[in-house]
Amino acid sequence: MINKREFYINGKWVLPIVKKDFQVINPSTEEAYAIISLGSKKDLNLAVKKAKEAFLTWSQVSKKNKIILLENLLNIYKKKWNDISQTISEEMGAPLDWSSSAQTSSGFDHINDFIKRLKHFEFETKFNKDSNNYIVYEPIGVCGLITPWNWPINQIALKVIPALATGCTMILKPSEIAPLSGMLFAEIIHEAGFPPGVFNLINGDGKGVGTDLSSHSDIDMISFTGSTRAGKLISKNAANTIKRVCLELGGKGGNIVFSDSHPDAVREGVRNIMSNSGQSCDAPTRMLVEKSIYKRAIKEAADEANKIKVDIASKNGDHIGPVVSKTQYDKIIDLINSGINEGATLVAGGPEKPNGLEKGYFVKPTIFTDVTNGMRIAKEEIFGPVLSIIPFEDEDEAISIVNDTSYGLGNYVQTQDKEKAKRVARKFRSGGVYINGNSAESGTPFGGYRQSGNGREGGNWGLEEYLEIKTICGWE
Ligand code: NAD
Repeated sequence: MINKREFYINGKWVLPIVKKDFQVINPSTEEAYAIISLGSKKDLNLAVKKAKEAFLTWSQVSKKNKIILLENLLNIYKKKWNDISQTISEEMGAPLDWSSSAQTSSGFDHINDFIKRLKHFEFETKFNKDSNNYIVYEPIGVCGLITPWNWPINQIALKVIPALATGCTMILKPSEIAPLSGMLFAEIIHEAGFPPGVFNLINGDGKGVGTDLSSHSDIDMISFTGSTRAGKLISKNAANTIKRVCLELGGKGGNIVFSDSHPDAVREGVRNIMSNSGQSCDAPTRMLVEKSIYKRAIKEAADEANKIKVDIASKNGDHIGPVVSKTQYDKIIDLINSGINEGATLVAGGPEKPNGLEKGYFVKPTIFTDVTNGMRIAKEEIFGPVLSIIPFEDEDEAISIVNDTSYGLGNYVQTQDKEKAKRVARKFRSGGVYINGNSAESGTPFGGYRQSGNGREGGNWGLEEYLEIKTICGWE
């Protein structure tokens, strides 16, 4: 059993003040393989005190010196690439190859991009050429960063790096389900030479450290990625201290496949939702298919889903792994059963475990057709390898079905008619739109409309989230 009971506070690994063990489970085997501690108020208060002290000096460090430290971090990250991939794979179930090529690489890309942005970011500027007003961007202060398990390092990099880059100090609380990659990240930060107290890590759950961080009077900002459920609680807990709250929450993306789309559009949509075992907030979980190609689309979707192999995460190869936990597994199976009970047609997969994989949280790639937007499988975030296919008559109907959700993170459109694609993209109520399988470049803003959240991560937008803006009048 790996012992990871310590927290990283003020530049050192320290045992918790109040002892509370928590087991980390490998989702491929259902076996506990590491022990962490769940933090208490006392642990948190110590970390916040140290972060507050460190802010006095870190907030004044020059851009040049911060870039040197961030470049150290990037180089160490590169050297530890295999360790990071292995750790993510074991804790959350991403197959090893994919953990490296998608999960670890996403963290690298964000660090790399933020360094580039920081180099060109103007922290001070005149209001305009002839003005004596001066605008100064300053770090907001001590930040509480709360991250999920599905893209653990991606989310950590999207928060920790801009917080460091802007001169904030912070307490990171990674997901207790997949905490080990975050702890490895803390080791990288330590090795890179950041001063004590600038970055601190406390493990814990939502009810404990998550809630205490959100309501803490010395935390100036919370940046959270996770479920809409927790986002609402965090907003309420943060309200008394009027801290800034940035939320990246759930999604229920629509993917409109028009009859003039690329011949591979349906298959690509299936592969896209199944990747990461369906555990991506911006996954295209509702496929809307134009009626004239509906029959063909059903056949292709079922065929593609049946081709996707499911296997344990430690194997290399082109397969999907388990879902992350028993809780998630039970929720997904409940939703698959609800689809059957509500009258959707199951054309691939289903609630049974894949053959030969009775142990582990494995779910078959599952496709429902004849879904209506009122069914639970079309409304709720399933967060598993499950696709709902909905037929439509015309463009307006398709757009209205896609927008008929409480979420608004990522939507997709497939058509070879460029004008139609742009028209649809403008009408989607979401923070991201993906036309014909194109993906977002590093440094573009990522975030959601409506209950998918309220901030933007990545690039200059991601840096600005961690800054206060000061107007100084009479500068000249
Ligand atoms: P979760 O909300 O249960 O947990 C996320 C994190 O929040 C964990 O660290 C957890 O300990 C903490 N937490 C839970 N309850 C809390 C509370 N009351 N107060 C403070 N912290 C609390 O979500 P999850 O199951 O780990 O992650 C999956 C969810 O994350 C999905 O809904 C997914 O869509 C969302 N997500 C969103 C994005 C995005 O950028 N929009 C990216 C990845 C994941």
